[in-house]
Amino acid sequence: MMTLPYAEPYKIKMTEAIRTSTREEREAWIREARYNLFKLRSDQVTIDLLTDSGTGSMSDRQWAAMMTGDESYAGASSYFRLKTTVAELFGMPWFLPTHQGRAAENVIFSALLKEGDIVPGNSHFDTTKGHIEFRRCHAVDCTIDAAADTQLELPFKGEMDLAKLEKVLAENPREKIPCVVLTVTNNTAGGQPVSMRNIRETAELCRRYGVPLLMDSARFAENAYFIKTREEGYASKTIKEIVREMYDWADIMTISAKKDGVVNMGGFVAMRSEELYKKAMSFSIMFEGYVTYGGMSGRDMDALAVGLDENTEFGQLDTRIRQVRLLGDLLDQYGVPYQRPAGGHAIFVDAKKVLPNLPKEQFIAQTLAVELYLEAGIRGVEIGSILADRDPETHENRYPALELLRLAIPRRVYTDNHIRVIAAACRNIFERRAEITTGYRITFEAPILRHFTVELDKIR
Ligand SMILES: *Cc1c(COP(=O)(O)O)cnc(C)c1O
Repeated sequence: MMTLPYAEPYKIKMTEAIRTSTREEREAWIREARYNLFKLRSDQVTIDLLTDSGTGSMSDRQWAAMMTGDESYAGASSYFRLKTTVAELFGMPWFLPTHQGRAAENVIFSALLKEGDIVPGNSHFDTTKGHIEFRRCHAVDCTIDAAADTQLELPFKGEMDLAKLEKVLAENPREKIPCVVLTVTNNTAGGQPVSMRNIRETAELCRRYGVPLLMDSARFAENAYFIKTREEGYASKTIKEIVREMYDWADIMTISAKKDGVVNMGGFVAMRSEELYKKAMSFSIMFEGYVTYGGMSGRDMDALAVGLDENTEFGQLDTRIRQVRLLGDLLDQYGVPYQRPAGGHAIFVDAKKVLPNLPKEQFIAQTLAVELYLEAGIRGVEIGSILADRDPETHENRYPALELLRLAIPRRVYTDNHIRVIAAACRNIFERRAEITTGYRITFEAPILRHFTVELDKIR
């Protein structure tokens, strides 16, 4: 008897047409976009892997919940439904809704950080680093060195290096370190997870030095999935039990709900301390909105409450992570090098290994991103030296160890057939890689978070 193959735990109720284009059209469009994929119109893109943020499909339950949204300015029942979900799932009694993750960072860092402070973490996400550096503070990266070796197969490759963290904690006065940021999963290091053991040991170190632990939680559910499937002792626990245990170690959480919350917009900051909540409240009111809606409408809070509940069920996460792994497996077949093992939300193609002859000053990962767009209308995103920005003090370009092309897979949007198209396009570029000998130079850049608006010109 044949074992039945695996299938998604849902069926599709509504579809959205995809536009296709010719290579000539794409050549003109990308030139007009100054070789910055953020500047393309979405109808110039066939398969959009720019991000998995806010691009997921909501379920019928989420759409139904939107109809029960309460749009009262203060004390809306939608707020209380979300508050209950946050308290049950994460055990955090105090929370402030915000319009997205970076807004949560803005609110909490306004309350926590002062000029000159030091914020250690495992590869701070770009907006997190932006908010830290904007306040003239320092983000110190304490990620394990193994994260930089794209070919090493480690189950938890996004972890905090405890020795590096302890050095920062020991060498600086307590009042200069307002918090430690632990990002789960570690987006910048390739969507790689952090083990429960590392979460616990990081928290214990923080407690020993009296520093609060802030979890940057965009992909908390995917991290819990990896703990369940890879860490000893967790196989029989539910995702919800694992999430609760993860957050028992945290004092504060910021979250972009656009990822594992499976909503198109939203976020929040939650915490254990009422005192900190009271401090943060004023910044919510100034930057976001009154404390019971912050940056969200009532219907959005209801859709998020359902999204958080649904996406902490094993089947949802299993489907998604298997799809990401399928892309990795196909790239393996075709010999295309990527950050191993496959991450939770994306495959990160190792651009330095695909284009070894391109100098780093010509933006290797960006060059590969443009090539993939030209090849098949697929929009990925550069995670390399354009994203890394300039050093805030020396103003020199920063060249990170990794030049990656991120192919982020939106939740419940594309089928495995789309995945096969993506893999084939990568293979075609890999096969003609010797012909790609020049990259790009910058003609315009903003002083902070330049990658969103950078303009480039092709080096000839
Ligand atoms: C997306 C993300 C953020 C920022 O959230 P936005 O909703 O995009 O503002 C912060 N940290 C991590 C790890 C993220 O992935």
